[in-house]
Amino acid sequence: MFVSISLSYYPFQLQFSHPFTVSGNSRTHTPIVIIQLEFEGVTGYGECTMPPYLGESQETVINFLNGIDLKQFDSPFEIDNLLHYIDELQEGNNAAKAGFDIALHDLICKLKATTLANYYNTHRSDKQSSFTIGIDTPDKMVEKTIEAMEIGFKVLKVKLGSDNDQEIMKRILEVWNGPFSIDANQGWKTKESALDFVHYLKDEGASFVEQPFSKNDLSKSAWLTERSPLPIIADESCKRLIDIDRIASSFHGINVKLMKSTGLREAYQMIGEARKRKMKVVTGCMAESSCAVTAMANFASLADWVDLDGPFLITNDPFDGVQLIDGKLKIPEINGIGVERKA
Ligand code: MG
Repeated sequence: MFVSISLSYYPFQLQFSHPFTVSGNSRTHTPIVIIQLEFEGVTGYGECTMPPYLGESQETVINFLNGIDLKQFDSPFEIDNLLHYIDELQEGNNAAKAGFDIALHDLICKLKATTLANYYNTHRSDKQSSFTIGIDTPDKMVEKTIEAMEIGFKVLKVKLGSDNDQEIMKRILEVWNGPFSIDANQGWKTKESALDFVHYLKDEGASFVEQPFSKNDLSKSAWLTERSPLPIIADESCKRLIDIDRIASSFHGINVKLMKSTGLREAYQMIGEARKRKMKVVTGCMAESSCAVTAMANFASLADWVDLDGPFLITNDPFDGVQLIDGKLKIPEINGIGVERKA
């Protein structure tokens, strides 16, 4: 009897434990789409998350998924053909493609009775993850820093790029003694003041600086990268594998995220390409549930720094997955990406 892979999906809203503020815009929840791929009675789970500024929505994701026809494929093990077909369907739609890719990996690994880490010949290691302090008033950012300690995080990532970066850092470092990094989110304007500030951050113990300037202003990043005492990491400037060649001389490293890379397959290739070029690697996430974050946590051992805090910022996670134990990410000892759907 001929059995085909069946695809189903449904929209869901992740509820934030605190409103999430980016440049004056505050959100209390974020839209996702959960994907299920079934084959021979086994279900693989995936997740698409759509931060509003990246141009995808539940509508665009569902439109994209409606256009998928899996009848031409005999089995999920045709992973290269399947992912090539998905990528060629339409341009863009990176989050939609990522959700499909995650579900397909979960399904394949479950059918093979192995973990995602094993499937890629790596291992699940309990690595520390940073906790992101979103941009806010200095008082609120100090409050969130204290909360990060209470949740149990041992590493901080501070979002800067406002007019009072100096004051924010000074205030946070009055309460925080552990390792930390900076994400300027394209917010810095002049090269010279950025370099001065990076020297200050180095003296204070920062480990790296992410996306200092506008994503298209590679010459400014190249200037800073040449002189910076800290690694300068590309986030918005580098989404997919094809971007690495263009940005490699302007940054020391890249932040790899599933919703940018179109999923695990290309994220793994991006990590390999970065390593070939002696570049640093951060594994990051958007506001995501433990579905996508647990999947990415399987690659934590391949990264210099891990920034996977998504599930710890929401109150209605639809999955059981990665846990935070003594500041480290711990993936449940189960096959696939490492998640179970909550009842
Ligand atoms: Mg970033």
